[in-house]
Amino acid sequence: MSFIIYLFIFIFGLVIGSFLNCLIWRLYKEEGIWNRSYCPACRGQIAWYDNIPVLSFILLGGKCRHCQGKISWQYPIVELVIGILFVLSFYFNFRFSIFPGLAERSGAGDFRLFLNSDFLFLTLRGWFIIAVMMVIFIYDLRWNLILDKVTLPACLVVFILNLILGISWLNLIVSGAIGGGFFLSQFLVSRGKWIGGGDIRLGLLMGLALGQASHLILAILLAYFVGSIIGLGLIISKKKKWGSEIPLGVFLSSATILTVFLGERIINWYLGLF
Ligand SMILES: [Zn+2]
Repeated sequence: MSFIIYLFIFIFGLVIGSFLNCLIWRLYKEEGIWNRSYCPACRGQIAWYDNIPVLSFILLGGKCRHCQGKISWQYPIVELVIGILFVLSFYFNFRFSIFPGLAERSGAGDFRLFLNSDFLFLTLRGWFIIAVMMVIFIYDLRWNLILDKVTLPACLVVFILNLILGISWLNLIVSGAIGGGFFLSQFLVSRGKWIGGGDIRLGLLMGLALGQASHLILAILLAYFVGSIIGLGLIISKKKKWGSEIPLGVFLSSATILTVFLGERIINWYLGLF
């Protein structure tokens, strides 16, 4: 049973990943989500059998069936990463759940887990945060922009999910205000030179998604830590110069995903040092 549920969740993740790829492109082109998929090179419609996550990319050799135009590696990579992250998120939730004994009571990896509404919403929250952060990651990496069209509706969704999960609205507001305020203050001090307006809304989203100030601060620290290491690496390898822009949203979004998985454990480990 355990294997079947993981396989099922992995395939579900691949499908969501495929949808996110499409969503990212449609957001960029400002098109509706529900039109048929087409090849960006020749604008030929993509048949359903050429639109199967990962598999079609391999079978087509990474090329469009009609025009032989190259299909970006982004497509299979995002699909695979979302599939893997969805499985991990599910695993972490029931293994290290905030509801001890849940896995034993319902039989490890059983679909009945989802009948427990706490588990259901915790899992949905994890998957939703992964999906939104992936869109922000790719979009900021490619086009150096964090869209309000993505962050603001996501703020509302995570706020509601966290309320359902029993996090107090006061905690959520405080955490969201710290996240938004942290970037807003830098925006004001630098007059928009260090920080874009999109980062402020992303800070708000991170605060509302993580739901606790401690987790939010951890995510920001992780982002700056990883960001400075990679930035330094790029400068040393002369790919970038000092002061050239490395999109902050790339690091903030990946740090948020990491904190959703491991935040509690990292904080406990850190507190255990003293
Ligand atoms: Zn084509």
